Amino acid sequence: MTDPDFLLPLAKPLADPVPAGDLRTLERKARDCRNCPLWRPATQTVFGDGPADALAMLIGEQPGNQEDIAGAPFVGPSGQLLDRALQEAGLERERLYLTNTVKHFKFEQRGKARLHKRANAAEQEACRMWLAAEMLQLRPKVVVALGAMAAQTVFGRQFRVTRERGRWQALPGQARGLASWHPSAVLRMPDERREAGFRELVEDLGRVAEAVGAGGKTAT
Ligand code: SF4
Repeated sequence: MTDPDFLLPLAKPLADPVPAGDLRTLERKARDCRNCPLWRPATQTVFGDGPADALAMLIGEQPGNQEDIAGAPFVGPSGQLLDRALQEAGLERERLYLTNTVKHFKFEQRGKARLHKRANAAEQEACRMWLAAEMLQLRPKVVVALGAMAAQTVFGRQFRVTRERGRWQALPGQARGLASWHPSAVLRMPDERREAGFRELVEDLGRVAEAVGAGGKTAT
């Protein structure tokens, strides 16, 4: 059953009906999604990954080149940086649900290279139903938005990661969420800023680790 209150974290009401089914069913249905043009040049849909009883839901922006090839989120360079940050923060990746705001890789072909392109507003809007469906299945108590695209989808268009990074936001259903840097943004930071950016990501994930508790229970 769709619970509109629970979908309020998705910042505004959805235009499309929320697909039904457990995570495995949703993943199967999303393979055939044609709700925006991004499916056509991409290799495959990159759906979320993680257990249905995950301690927290981490939402990134969109798959990159390696995610598109592997069919799994956060496996490329930004995934490796995220893994390091999770480890330093004391979070086990296997106990989290990792997904993206948009489920297909968007790119521009330059010779043999496929250069990442940001999904536009219409594409983000078209894909929101999948994030909503994942959220309805998981009903996470803790949501982590990595990067501006995810943060604005969850907390609203006015939200600025630069201003409000690492601060807990109340969400419906007694859930809460915070935003942090997307790992790819950390990778793009100038050399002299990158280590500090990484430390900030670890610090924010540390807050998440504390919230979900060392024993795996959500702290109240
Ligand atoms: S990006 Fe999202 S909405 Fe667009 S085709 Fe892929 S799964 Fe469907």
